[in-house]
Amino acid sequence: MSLEGLRDRGNALAIRRTGKLTDLLRQADGGTADDGSGFGQVPANRVPTSTKRSVCGYCATGCSLTVHLRDGKPVNLTPTNNYPVNLGAACPKGWEALTPLSAADRLVSPMIREQGVLRAVDWSEATDHFCARMRDVQSRFGEASAAFISTGQIATEEMALLGAFAKFEMGMLHGDGNTRQCMATSVAAYKQSFGFDAPPFTYADFELSDVIVLIGSNLSIAHPILWERVARNQNQPVVVVVDPRRTETASAASVHVSLRPATDLALLLGVASELMRLDSVDEEFVSAHTEGFAQWAELVDEWDASRASSVCGVPIEQIEQLAATIAAGKRVSFWWTMGVNQGHQAVRTAQAIINLALMTGNIGRPGTGANSITGQCNAMGSRLFSNTTSLYGGRSFSSLSDREDVARIMGVDVARIPTQDSLAYDQILEGIDDGTIRALWIVATNTAHSWLDQDKTRERLSKLEFLVVQDLYGDTLTAAHADLLLPAAGWGEKEGTFINAERRFGHFQPVSNPPGEARTDFAIVHTLATAWGVGSWIDRWSDPAAAFQQLQQLSAGLPCDITGIEGFSALDEAGIQWPFPAITAPAAGVPSERRLFEDGAFFHADKKARFVCEEPSGAPEQPDNEYPLVLLTGRASSAQWHTGTRTDRSSVLRALATDVATLQINPLDAAVRGIEQGSVVQVRSRRGIVAYRAIVTSLVPRGQVFVAMHDPLVNRLTRITIDPISRQPAAKHSCVDVTRATSDRHHGETLR
Ligand code: SF4
Repeated sequence: MSLEGLRDRGNALAIRRTGKLTDLLRQADGGTADDGSGFGQVPANRVPTSTKRSVCGYCATGCSLTVHLRDGKPVNLTPTNNYPVNLGAACPKGWEALTPLSAADRLVSPMIREQGVLRAVDWSEATDHFCARMRDVQSRFGEASAAFISTGQIATEEMALLGAFAKFEMGMLHGDGNTRQCMATSVAAYKQSFGFDAPPFTYADFELSDVIVLIGSNLSIAHPILWERVARNQNQPVVVVVDPRRTETASAASVHVSLRPATDLALLLGVASELMRLDSVDEEFVSAHTEGFAQWAELVDEWDASRASSVCGVPIEQIEQLAATIAAGKRVSFWWTMGVNQGHQAVRTAQAIINLALMTGNIGRPGTGANSITGQCNAMGSRLFSNTTSLYGGRSFSSLSDREDVARIMGVDVARIPTQDSLAYDQILEGIDDGTIRALWIVATNTAHSWLDQDKTRERLSKLEFLVVQDLYGDTLTAAHADLLLPAAGWGEKEGTFINAERRFGHFQPVSNPPGEARTDFAIVHTLATAWGVGSWIDRWSDPAAAFQQLQQLSAGLPCDITGIEGFSALDEAGIQWPFPAITAPAAGVPSERRLFEDGAFFHADKKARFVCEEPSGAPEQPDNEYPLVLLTGRASSAQWHTGTRTDRSSVLRALATDVATLQINPLDAAVRGIEQGSVVQVRSRRGIVAYRAIVTSLVPRGQVFVAMHDPLVNRLTRITIDPISRQPAAKHSCVDVTRATSDRHHGETLR
């Protein structure tokens, strides 16, 4: 198979163990045939002698990977065959999960920047420096002038310890997660609609539906293993993809509904209107299990298919057909991802999807649900246990009884627990401008790449009095601004849990040691906390296993109760979905795939779900004569992960991935600009200018262009638009113009 052929497979498909992908690619990449997977010819000295199972550390699918070891050292890995998530498959990132760990350019010691130059120091000096600089800033500007940005990429136990130390001991009022960029919308929508941040589904629902509606989700690229679950569906399901672009997933679907960018809410209202016209409301379910239907019906009444069509650009007949398909379905599941979450009116759009499921009774039954698919490997852990936007376990900082509960369980002084919510990520960055925030501790995320309006963001980072960056590598765009770099261990070098998109706790464990002086995030935070001088509560957080027990106690009696999980090892066979209270144990008697709301009882006090809705509004920045095109961003390959910090270290993944320095443009838009296939183009927005090589393709509708989110410069172009409820940034709609460049060099040639 040619490298191009492999690249196509890597972009769209999950790879089964029979594929021998790694060997093939290494050969294609000029390397040698590979080793100890147990297949093909394996040198005797690399035959594995033992295995360890770990849940993958990239995306929220939560695949189990079996690492093969010889003499205690990893020689290869294979997807775990009988794990209920991935059933023996992994995407290219999973197959290559070990590679970034052995990169030659790992950060191997703490570094302090002095007069612009980084100097390697030992942990003792780094710890003293951290404490002294943070205390100095806080003594001059108040405790709340120091803040942190956490992540969905580290273990639940690590983010929980970070949240406790930063908020209860350092006095930080403000700490948010990079999950604000991906899942905040779903959190807010679920909380308001269901009474708790509770994705209701299990992955088996992909296989049980007869109608699958994917909204703003390029599933085959973003979650290829879940796309494979769709492919296993024996019901000949109708698969509908709602997306402006004809993505890989849309191309393979039964129906592609191509709408104008940022008009999903109008489309969903039109579909709801048609469902009512078809008399397809499940009145018994609505009456018994919901509140607020009348308000929803009133809004829907004003949005017939004709009005919806005029806004979203989808033909009336297709809106009618979509409603008829949903009405005819017996088990309809609705799934959404970033196309919805990263919208200017994102929460209300997600809730319109929830409302469709509620009004048709498509929830709590096999093959149904209003289902948000998470992005990062531990986005759900961040949502429940990072102590950022909510107090542990989904509690509220503003509730005295919640604070007292946490203080009692953890043994911390209740007076040290903040009584108000943190500023959100965007507000923390804005706070740098007005002096509210003077010091920032960024853990396992790459703000200078991934946040919008990049030039402004980088300017803000450079204004900080003290910036700490904790990461595996010291060459990220964010690390370039750091005053103190802390070298962190990666997946495969530490232990803990991740919670996947279907609420499943999975265990990962070390298979090698971190290089040099790098330490686990747990050990780093523990070291800093001990040096800072914290209360005796930390004695009960001695290691990840002990921290997990603390989280179990913090979950007791809540919807996410996990008191029945008997230690990390109980997770190795199949993981365990929350809730799993002690009365549920032993795990053996509980199905490995469970969905919520099968009894029709939601988490509001009256057990009823809520219809929440609002009139659609247009995106704040609209195309005009100066900036006539809408820039869409998104995942471009299953072989790349976010800002490429880890995946760019793999030659295999680089070979599989799309060239990020490219811009997709419709042939009609290209023709009027004199742009040909491969032309270098200049893309200009109100924020900045970037040069790309053009890919002229009708996969992108006229009036739109597309750039991969992995590109390090794309966020020079994007606008910071914030959903007012979730404060999630809208990355999917910025206005630009594109012209043919006079130079033949695009930024990929100058930067990489
Ligand atoms: Fe599975 Fe996601 Fe890891 Fe790929 S990145 S192997 S889909 S968990």
